[in-house]
Amino acid sequence: MAIRRTKIVATIGPGSENAVTLRALMDAGMDMARISLSHGSLDEALGRIERIRAVAEEAERPVGIMADLPGPKVRAAELPDGGVLLEAGQTIDLVEGTPGDRSTAERIAIDHPGAASALRPGDRVVIGDGGIQFIVTETHDERAVAEISTGGFTQGRPGVSMPSSRLGLSAPTARDLELLAALYDAEVDAVAISFVKSAADILRARHAIGDDAPMLVAKVETPEAVDNLNDIVAVADAVMVARGDLGIRCALEDVPHIQKQIIHSGVAFGRPVITATQMLESMVRSPVPTRAEVTDVANAVSDGTSAVMLSGETAVGMHPVEAVATMARIIDRAERDFPYEAWGKDLERQRAADPSGVSPKDRITNAISAAASRAVVDAEASVIIACTDSGTTARSISRYRTKAPIIAVTPVDRTVRQLTMSWGVTPLKVERQDTTDKTVWESVAAAVREGLLRPGEVVAVLVGSPADAPLSTDTLRLVRVR
Ligand code: PEP
Repeated sequence: MAIRRTKIVATIGPGSENAVTLRALMDAGMDMARISLSHGSLDEALGRIERIRAVAEEAERPVGIMADLPGPKVRAAELPDGGVLLEAGQTIDLVEGTPGDRSTAERIAIDHPGAASALRPGDRVVIGDGGIQFIVTETHDERAVAEISTGGFTQGRPGVSMPSSRLGLSAPTARDLELLAALYDAEVDAVAISFVKSAADILRARHAIGDDAPMLVAKVETPEAVDNLNDIVAVADAVMVARGDLGIRCALEDVPHIQKQIIHSGVAFGRPVITATQMLESMVRSPVPTRAEVTDVANAVSDGTSAVMLSGETAVGMHPVEAVATMARIIDRAERDFPYEAWGKDLERQRAADPSGVSPKDRITNAISAAASRAVVDAEASVIIACTDSGTTARSISRYRTKAPIIAVTPVDRTVRQLTMSWGVTPLKVERQDTTDKTVWESVAAAVREGLLRPGEVVAVLVGSPADAPLSTDTLRLVRVR
């Protein structure tokens, strides 16, 4: 069974939100759609969510939806359509934005009360993902004058990064919590929390949203989050290497190493890790990526990332479908050389340092999935089936990056969609059964019906007892398909 293991998350924006492009993105390999709440209104975001759902339903394809909260990110007011070129050496005004304000090439309106007034001569201000930089030369009441030290092209509502301690901002913001409530009602599958600094930030969001909530994805993009990495990953459901802001707030040359550290931590805790930003950036304009970008995506696959993400490439780029198709091709090739066996052994070694704070129920799931990862090699099983309600069992076995594909069978629609960001997992909806035996046989039959499993093959089935509440996965069956 040939499947792509590393998943593709594509950001949906004005360049890709129409039904035809959405369908083409799904056909090209988009597994999960990301909606950024940093751009556009909540109503626009809800409209996109509805459209993605309708197209996915028509395509009969599970496509997860992740909404990305803006967090305490300071942004510039909208630039003129088509963007502007800011030239090095010129001066530019930085002013307090007013409602409905627009930015221009001569005047950037900062959309955050007090931000322009907080600037001091000598401050470095970074626009967008770091390419454009200003140095503040003079300050007046609500206006600062800066020299453009590094110029470049920018468009939309780029982020404005300035010494953050001056603004004392923390995540999730009051606006984030309002959005979170609306996204809960819209039943999105995951919500990404921007600019978390500690586990408490994730716990605040979790407390606000309650149980039966979307997965919470911790975006690691501040030095504080890197320092508190394991504590954050332990309480989050997934994690994102948000390289855009990470590269502004940390030394640029640290980013590849922090990426590996975040992936390592996410895998150890059984959390999906999404590697994001500028992966195929040149494809915003060009139909072909640079060699360095191709190498970056392939290296993220070798690092063991669960998913790779496209941002501007699919949200506003000229070649959204080609960007997804290109990413799928790079992943397919990189996975041919993935060190599946070495990876499993490495994780075995790490188990000695198994994260503390794991619940007794999850410890059992982790132990049984470790056993399954060994059994598939010894019994030459070609497929693993994880019977799961919440998706935890599938995420737990996914950590081992087994060569055998993982089919996650679940009666829960949202779990199907949430597993679209998990490495190596093909989610499959089945009817709920009332005994362990029936669950095993129905799962195997469903996989055969879908052409994911053939007679004669050996399959390792991870399953719990439906009579137990909460359901814990405590059984491993090795089954030869008749
Ligand atoms: C990033 O900073 O890399 C990121 C993914 O966040 P955003 O696109 O919301 O700035």
